[in-house]
Amino acid sequence: MRVAVPRETAIGERRVALVPETVARLCAAGFAIAVERGAGSAAGFADEAYTEAGAQLADTGSLLEGAEGVVRVARPSAGEIEALGPGTVVIGFLSPLTDPDGIERLRHHGVVAFAMESIPRITRAQPMDALSSQATVAGYKAVVLAADRSAKMFPLLMTAAGTIAPARVLVLGAGVAGLQAIATARRLGAVVSAFDVRPAVKEQVESLGASFLELGVRAEETAGGYATELTSEQQAQQQAELERHIAGMDVVITTALVPGRPAPRLIPAAAVASMRAGSVIVDLAAETGGNCELTAAGEEVVREGVTIVGFTNLPSLMATDASRLYSRNVSALLQHLAPNGELALDFDEELTAGACVARPEVTA
Ligand code: NAD
Repeated sequence: MRVAVPRETAIGERRVALVPETVARLCAAGFAIAVERGAGSAAGFADEAYTEAGAQLADTGSLLEGAEGVVRVARPSAGEIEALGPGTVVIGFLSPLTDPDGIERLRHHGVVAFAMESIPRITRAQPMDALSSQATVAGYKAVVLAADRSAKMFPLLMTAAGTIAPARVLVLGAGVAGLQAIATARRLGAVVSAFDVRPAVKEQVESLGASFLELGVRAEETAGGYATELTSEQQAQQQAELERHIAGMDVVITTALVPGRPAPRLIPAAAVASMRAGSVIVDLAAETGGNCELTAAGEEVVREGVTIVGFTNLPSLMATDASRLYSRNVSALLQHLAPNGELALDFDEELTAGACVARPEVTA
């Protein structure tokens, strides 16, 4: 299977779909890889490293010649879809739940599209789970950003000049990103508490040395392990309960998401106003509307003296390691779709069928 790796064109996207280390493994497994010149440079991977790994370098115009597959990070633009040959396999974050027009364009163009978001969360698909790998990076980066923006140190300090109390960090949403945020904040010495509507995570939160807030709000868990949306009464109760806790926090990291739905609103403006000046909120849900009412997507703002970071692509800010992890996810999916480098799509198989969001004559 000949696979092309384009340079990402989405604004602010620094990651690359395959890194040289994975290219070498794929070449050894029977794949032929073509990499657009400069594709890895923003993530710290030079063109020479790709050629050493066995890839061919190509210019934009010739990259897709003979390509049976294209692997990318962000979804392709309309123009990029036009350039694909019919039947080409496309792999990437294709936003199947939030960009139906883009999926329809892929289907209409006759490509076979696999969305990393749609890979079933079954045990044997874990090596392909890019939502988890990138959420891990985002959770880490959220805490590092918060520590940087905060005027308060995270650890307890006992010095000749007296004692400094540790920072108090609250993590809302304890899925993959939230658990990594808890672990990172703990390593920096903060006192961490967390909340999630799935009661099953209480034990995981506590095993990381954080305390679990009991707010009396619980959501059903779907078969895929995701939370369902709260009723409006539950939402109101959650906001009221949280408002009491948020006032005493130095840092709040929010990661609460419900797949395909706007982000749940956890922190109303009044709760921000109750925080001390100099506190920090990092809102990982900014792209889907934000967990905080005052979040501005893609921006960092100061409201009521509180810094609110609403960057929408934190993994891209850690492009080297985010790409390393993503590349392994993509490679595992490629080897599933093309054992020994020979494309063999079986749409009766759970993983292939689940991840496929568009193919000729079929809509996801
Ligand atoms: P996600 O990104 O969709 O959501 C993040 C968190 O927000 C979730 O924990 C969710 O419960 C929480 N949330 C939703 N609404 C909330 C609200 N109103 N208030 C507070 N929190 C709220 O989830 P995710 O991180 O992708 O993980 C979801 C689940 O999938 C987890 O149980 C995770 O362990 C599981 N998972 C399973 C596999 C597997 O292969 N079996 C792989 C990865 C994750």
